Amino acid sequence: MEEEVIVKIQTKAVHAGDRKKAGAHVPVTTPIFTASSYFYDSMEELDRIFGREDPGYCYSRYDNPTNAALEEQAAALESGHGALACSSGMMAIHMALLAALADRRKSVLAANALYGATIGLLMNVMEPSGVSVRFADVCDLDAFRKAMEESKPGCVLVETISNPLLRVAALDRIAEIVRAAGGALIVDNTFATPMLVRPLELGAHFAVHSATKYLAGHGDVLGGMVVADAAHYEGLRALARVVGPVLGPFESYLTMRGIKTLPLRMERQCANACRVASWLASHGAIERVYFPADPAHPDAADIRRLLPHGMYGAIVSFELRGAGRAEVFRFMNALRMVVRATSLGDVHSMMLYPAMSSHREISPRHRERMGIRDNLVRLSVGIEAVEDIVEDLEQALRQVG
Ligand SMILES: *Cc1c(COP(=O)(O)O)cnc(C)c1O
Repeated sequence: MEEEVIVKIQTKAVHAGDRKKAGAHVPVTTPIFTASSYFYDSMEELDRIFGREDPGYCYSRYDNPTNAALEEQAAALESGHGALACSSGMMAIHMALLAALADRRKSVLAANALYGATIGLLMNVMEPSGVSVRFADVCDLDAFRKAMEESKPGCVLVETISNPLLRVAALDRIAEIVRAAGGALIVDNTFATPMLVRPLELGAHFAVHSATKYLAGHGDVLGGMVVADAAHYEGLRALARVVGPVLGPFESYLTMRGIKTLPLRMERQCANACRVASWLASHGAIERVYFPADPAHPDAADIRRLLPHGMYGAIVSFELRGAGRAEVFRFMNALRMVVRATSLGDVHSMMLYPAMSSHREISPRHRERMGIRDNLVRLSVGIEAVEDIVEDLEQALRQVG
């Protein structure tokens, strides 16, 4: 398809990356290329490809046609210059940090509400290797500005929508502050997906994803994605050639197939989540609902500016009134359709108990201070009929009440 014909993200998701000429024919969808290396007629030809004077594949740690198709698709969706498919979301975050810090001050300023393993990566891997790490409340721009001035970080790392309290960062304002200070901005866009927010269009340098979640979307892939701007893409690829973070071609194929329906899935999941959140808010057994559509949300003004109307993501967190661990267990054990599991973003609805899983390692007092109470659960709303999701929650709530 002609580049200029593809305008809308729904169309890009279906077409971008596919239909590359393979010999005499053009496969309509991209095959799984399992070869680790590539053969050419002459040494001269191979030499030019190794030297990157000519385009072409020589070894799958450098690039692979299946991965290249997925990378083109992801870069198109995120409005990036290029992308790197990685073996996991954590690998993607690590690669983005390495690329961002390559020629900058070895310091990171990170959002204080981050995915648990990301905090682990910063504290247990980056810091011991000489990178200074500091955390700030990125939803308080004055506090963020102050932390920027004090730490002068080479790189800033934030999530578009935080877990599990669903705070929304003012990415446009943050990008402005980071750019003025000469830093690089990495945005973990896993929860929002490019259907809600495209961080590079707002001034970020990298968007990263756990492709395990919404991008692949079916609970059958572990993968990650880094999308970079033009200034950082070559550096990222050069690092990848020696670090070897590659996604396998089978997972690449599954992710690409998943992304084709990402717009449809997200539209349905976001609509379902809106319905579930308002149903929960009016239920007597629910103490509090966390959802970005809430007009009383602390980031309501940023949400109105940054998220499309009606697309608030598909995660709903809520507190069971007067419940402790035992009642939460009883409620979750009573679920018949919603799956009790870690992870999110799949076609099926899933529920997780942060105090037991994602925030288990944090002391109860610290959890309470973070606002993560022992009666809080996180629901990733799937594509099922919303009536069935509500019905399952309702019958499970009856078991507690
Ligand atoms: C799951 C997740 C990750 C880590 O991704 P993996 O694919 O599990 O390595 C990073 N960030 C966010 C926001 C996530 O939800």
